[in-house]
Amino acid sequence: MNSYDVIVIGGGLTGSVLSYELAKKKVKVLLLEKDASLNNATTSSYGGISYWGGTDKLTNQLCEEGINIYRNLREELSENIEFRELDLLFTIDPSQDVEKLIADYQKFYIKPEFLNIDESKQLEPLLNPNAISGCLKFPQGHVNPEKMILAYQKQFIKLGGKIEKELVTFIKNKHNKIEGIQTNKNIYFSPQVIISAGAFSKQLLENLGLNLPIYFSHAQLIKIPSSEIKLRTLVMPCTSKRLDTEKEITGEERISMWKNPNNEIHSDVLEAGAIQFLDGSFCLGQISQIITNIDTSINSKVSERRIREAIAKVLPSLSVLQGTWYNCQVAFSQEMPFQARKIEEIEGLSLFSGFTSPFVFVPPLARHFAHYLVENKDSIIEQLPSLR
Ligand SMILES: Cc1cc2nc3c(=O)[nH]c(=O)nc-3n(C[C@H](O)[C@H](O)[C@H](O)COP(=O)(O)OP(=O)(O)OC[C@H]3O[C@@H](n4cnc5c(N)ncnc54)[C@H](O)[C@@H]3O)c2cc1C
Repeated sequence: MNSYDVIVIGGGLTGSVLSYELAKKKVKVLLLEKDASLNNATTSSYGGISYWGGTDKLTNQLCEEGINIYRNLREELSENIEFRELDLLFTIDPSQDVEKLIADYQKFYIKPEFLNIDESKQLEPLLNPNAISGCLKFPQGHVNPEKMILAYQKQFIKLGGKIEKELVTFIKNKHNKIEGIQTNKNIYFSPQVIISAGAFSKQLLENLGLNLPIYFSHAQLIKIPSSEIKLRTLVMPCTSKRLDTEKEITGEERISMWKNPNNEIHSDVLEAGAIQFLDGSFCLGQISQIITNIDTSINSKVSERRIREAIAKVLPSLSVLQGTWYNCQVAFSQEMPFQARKIEEIEGLSLFSGFTSPFVFVPPLARHFAHYLVENKDSIIEQLPSLR
């Protein structure tokens, strides 16, 4: 009774979508999620689908496949996940070199359009014209993240999938071969286990003696209940500082810091961004800090003040709205914008985690990865460079 073809750990975006894609292929799947209530990186997210963001043949193809999946997802999942197409505005600070930014962003699959201050203000009236020297505009998709994972989970269950709200405490393996999972309540048997536990993926891998290039940051944001104010676009600053820091921090010389987790702040990036969901509520963000202790405590008062001060410059009317501060941990990986692969060291163990821009990449890659796991071949997964 407690035997499955595959066990997936983590009911966020990555685990929910992958479980559904496996169940579609008639695989008997158990999805294990530690939290009874939804409170993870996915539910803290803006839900932006950056299908413009491919930078090579592989990621361009995934962007194309990704947005096409979303355009048909309402029909496929029989649920309204509030998918829509809306503009993404990257605000340019007056101190930034506009020409250089435009040149830098030419590497993407879809090139941005530069909007001067008047054009930016016309598209997004909430912007403070004195705080910008223009914007880069990209076409972007958008969903309600919580509705999206719930819709995937609902269809997964309809296809025969099982979800248990239990904490995975141990991945059982014998002679480097997967046997199953131990949770705080049960033991489950399976020859295949997939780690999709977001920021906690690193810890689960380490418990098996595996040090793979997957890391996490601590993100902080403010959720604002429904308001009369209307934000028309997804607003973010025009900077790659967070992604640059993630790369830098995973460089060879820094790897040792992850071996001794502590509360030191190795990097701190504040990106003043905002999205309004269709129910009128907002998410204002975000601070991303690299602190190696996953359980570190963040000073919520200082964090909320910093986010509000940054938002006050760019979108002043949003900065004063009452809201609730949240923090979460977000996985990221080195070299690739995702890890979707079997782990060679332990037969039956796979990793599907560490995504940058997961909302665009997870749906197509979950489809490819499910195909790969079932058929033992897939044109996309086979192109991915090896993990080490
Ligand atoms: C403010 C903010 C805005 C963002 N905006 C965007 C955006 O616009 N577009 C975009 O693409 N991305 C965005 N992101 C990033 C994106 O939200 C995350 O990268 C993504 O949702 C991560 O999904 P996940 O499945 O890897 O992790 P999670 O959503 O964190 O899910 C992992 C799950 O695993 C469970 N778990 C962990 N350990 C165990 C265990 N031992 N046993 C059982 N369960 C376990 C956790 O409880 C959790 O539910 C944003 C992030 C933030 C913070």
